[in-house]
Amino acid sequence: MNGLNVDTLRGQVRGQIITPGDAGYDAARAVHNGLIDRRPAAVVRVSQVADVIACVNFARENSLDLAVRGGGHSAPGFGTWDGALVIDFVNTSGVRVDPAARTARSEAGATWADFNHATHAFGLATTGGIVGSTGVSGLTLGGGIGYLDRKYGLSCDNLLSADVVLADGTFLTASNSENEDLFWALRGGGGNFGVVTSLEYRLHPVDLVHVGVVIYSVEHAETVARFYREQMDTAPEEFGAFLAFHQGPPVPFLPEEWHGKPVCVVVGMWTGDPAEGPARWQPFLDVAPVAGSMVGPMPYPALNSAFDAMYPKGLLAYWKAAFLPELSDGAIEAHLDFGSRVPSVQTAVHLYPIDGAVHRVGATETAFPNRTAKFSPVIACMWDNPADTEANIAWVRDYASALQPFSEAAGYINFMDKDDLPKVADNYGTNYRRLSEIKAKYDPQNLFHVNQNIPPG
Ligand SMILES: Cc1cc2nc3c(=O)[nH]c(=O)nc-3n(C[C@H](O)[C@H](O)[C@H](O)COP(=O)(O)OP(=O)(O)OC[C@H]3O[C@@H](n4cnc5c(N)ncnc54)[C@H](O)[C@@H]3O)c2cc1C
Repeated sequence: MNGLNVDTLRGQVRGQIITPGDAGYDAARAVHNGLIDRRPAAVVRVSQVADVIACVNFARENSLDLAVRGGGHSAPGFGTWDGALVIDFVNTSGVRVDPAARTARSEAGATWADFNHATHAFGLATTGGIVGSTGVSGLTLGGGIGYLDRKYGLSCDNLLSADVVLADGTFLTASNSENEDLFWALRGGGGNFGVVTSLEYRLHPVDLVHVGVVIYSVEHAETVARFYREQMDTAPEEFGAFLAFHQGPPVPFLPEEWHGKPVCVVVGMWTGDPAEGPARWQPFLDVAPVAGSMVGPMPYPALNSAFDAMYPKGLLAYWKAAFLPELSDGAIEAHLDFGSRVPSVQTAVHLYPIDGAVHRVGATETAFPNRTAKFSPVIACMWDNPADTEANIAWVRDYASALQPFSEAAGYINFMDKDDLPKVADNYGTNYRRLSEIKAKYDPQNLFHVNQNIPPG
């Protein structure tokens, strides 16, 4: 991009424009995944919708690639791109709660920590991610899995409307009553259809939750995994807990001898009657010897930010995903094999339950089609030593291959890395055709292609 072009854009936006050579360029081009080292032509920290319209028009008119960054957590690093214009929402994170209507409207740069902080003041919440620093935008547009999904559905199931800047620079609102086709596509179709500038959510009464983090030696993982499967078959939807494989984290409730050792963990929360909380967790304390545990009431946002410090910006990361119709014996075996060889203390292998309310939405009601799988596993390998990169990527690939026979064809797009782009069509299954038609209507030139791309059909 030459100087003249930047000056043109500068005259059209109120936000900060950062280009190569500017102090802060390296910080501005970086995303959460430290493996990503891309050099955009400019990063625009937009301040309002008018800036977004200017950027979209500018990228289109100058044939620039356009990347859109909400919270910057995309594992493939789609929030930054070589030679691209990056729309970065980092400076727009306001959340306005309407406690009477039980709704909240969030600006596109809010994180789940921002969102939960705002809604918790009113004793309300909606389904969001399990790490506070993750962006509401990318997470919701891809689906949105979290502790509350069994009870209240995915984040995208709680989306009531979204403001969007389209590829031709026009602005509109999508909801169940206007631009319904676009609204359908935004709920699971990712960043393919436009730049979302704000998102309105339905909220639910969620205040103190009864949290459990129960850590076992990996030698008990088979017992724990089978028990977890049995429990989740009958557990009320108020029980949102996932099975995990980690290295013992340096947390105060885990004795030091376990730090860095392979462990199996059950993590989650009970949102039902607080008096029932201890009894909901007791079976997990009894099923096998416990290496360390923390069980007790906690404000919902505290749980959502409890692990943030373990996942700072800049960790190197490589992820893969699956969808398990069942936690079959074969899937458990694959987890026991690879889960006992988790390569770093930051690596998280999580099996999120996505039944209950998620299953009550039909596969074609929103773009998110995976409405019968019971678990959405993520193999989220994260590490800090570049020397480990090759071995860690190989471990993730082998793990995913071992899990594949027990999985649906694809995995959750928000947990996929860049080399899984060929699986995007498989992931959407019967919804893919409609998505590509809607793409052709709203973005016929595929301006929004720096994402899990659905080309116009
Ligand atoms: C530490 C960590 C924890 C996570 N935990 C969970 C979890 O619990 N549940 C879960 O479901 N996922 C989780 N994820 C995955 C997460 O859903 C994806 O990484 C998601 O893309 C993050 O959204 P973001 O806005 O932070 O990312 P970004 O990198 O900013 O955005 C990702 C993509 O989303 C699109 N996008 C973002 N903002 C906009 C916008 N305003 N308009 C249009 N398109 C946009 C773009 O295509 C962009 O490339 C986690 C990721 C990390 C790194």
